[in-house]
Amino acid sequence: MNTAANVRIQETRPEEAELLRRLRQFVALRWVAVAGVLASIAAAQTIFAIQVALAPVLATLAGVTACNLAFWLWARSDQRLARTGQTLAYAQIATDLLGLTVLLHLTGGIENPFFLFYFLHVGFSIILLGARDVYLVTLLAIGLFAAMVISEFAGWLPHIQLVGFLSDELYRQPAYVVAVLVAFATTLSLVSVVATRMMTELRKRREDQAQAKVKELEQVREQLDELDRMRTFFLALASHDLKTPLAVAINYIQTVLDGFAGEVEPKQRKWMERSVVRLQELLQLINDFLDASQLDEARIAQELEPTSLEPIVQQVMAEISPRARDKEVTIQTTIPPSLSWVLGSPKRLHRLLINLLDNGCKFTPRGGSVTLTCTEEDDCVRIDVSDTGTGIPASYVPHIFEDYFRVRRQEFIPGAGLGLSTARRIVEAHGGKIWVESPYRPDQPGSRFTFSLQKASVKNDDHP
Ligand code: ADP
Repeated sequence: MNTAANVRIQETRPEEAELLRRLRQFVALRWVAVAGVLASIAAAQTIFAIQVALAPVLATLAGVTACNLAFWLWARSDQRLARTGQTLAYAQIATDLLGLTVLLHLTGGIENPFFLFYFLHVGFSIILLGARDVYLVTLLAIGLFAAMVISEFAGWLPHIQLVGFLSDELYRQPAYVVAVLVAFATTLSLVSVVATRMMTELRKRREDQAQAKVKELEQVREQLDELDRMRTFFLALASHDLKTPLAVAINYIQTVLDGFAGEVEPKQRKWMERSVVRLQELLQLINDFLDASQLDEARIAQELEPTSLEPIVQQVMAEISPRARDKEVTIQTTIPPSLSWVLGSPKRLHRLLINLLDNGCKFTPRGGSVTLTCTEEDDCVRIDVSDTGTGIPASYVPHIFEDYFRVRRQEFIPGAGLGLSTARRIVEAHGGKIWVESPYRPDQPGSRFTFSLQKASVKNDDHP
């Protein structure tokens, strides 16, 4: 079975898929039926000593077998079966009814009680087909049976007696023939009408249920969208309203620290400086929330443009260097000359690099180093941010890019657990992947974060 065909089968509606499955089942069932007829004839001849006209019966069975072989071959291709399911259903039912009628004619006609098998075929058609087609099949069954019985009664067709089965020539008794025909036609018609109605109702109920489920799912999705919109709105609002007074408070303390409100004693300075650090951490936390709330992959995808990484790296370095210097962590960058431009959103790439380098500084002890390396590859630029820091315990690595995930550490390091998930979302919106190796050098601690950006297929020199 090929993949394309599988996809096609999956695309078919449930009722169609059901029809195709049943058609295959009926092909298998027909093999059993042929074997069953052969066994019955053998039993009739050997156990009950009933004489059967073997040659024409076997010829009819051979015809049915050949047709079934053709159905089997046809149904092997999913695509073909999906295209011609209904036609194959008609062909199978017509073959069965015709085969049954011929076999009945060859084995006693109306005297053979196996004419009840017509019910079976109408039953199959109720499962397979719609109401109108079921009535057509019922008519065909009644028509074939009546044609055979009447033809034998009238002598247009020879009656082939099952010698040793019945003594009386029932097929010539008008009352019997009429009674069987009327009973047969009315029962079969009633069965087909009642069962078809039931089946139609069942199908409708199933469809209604499926539609109700789809509606329910749509409502849930709408509710989720609404919740998501509210969450984004609330986060953005809360973060903005929290940020402004914080920034103002930091400014006021800084003004006092700068001596604009008079001399500041060393003890006061120490506590005020600590307050500024804490308030800045809080501001950073709020910024992280704000960034996360504004991350919309579709929007980022629209922002992509040919972008040079060099000015972004320079800007990031200017922002991060004071922090690194305070912590006595060295930051290095390695960018090859004339590095290809990438397809990116400058402000998002700026945020991404800040997050990675900031983490590098945060989790690297004094005296360590953080390195940003850009490498030219075939159709992308690879960026590594490595550090000589504490590293990430192996059990935490699979979760490191999840929202709000933080590694439990003994010392308190501020953060909301959003820096790396924001980084991952930004890289994914750029069509890439980000991963971490920790440790990345043999026998030495440290982490290396790697991602790549697709080239904008324009070289540095081509841009002003
Ligand atoms: P935050 O830094 O705000 O806690 P992140 O999403 O940026 O959140 O990082 C999640 C966790 O991953 C951090 O709590 C930290 O323990 C770990 N981590 C991230 N970067 C590094 C790194 N360079 N070295 C060691 N641990 C890191």
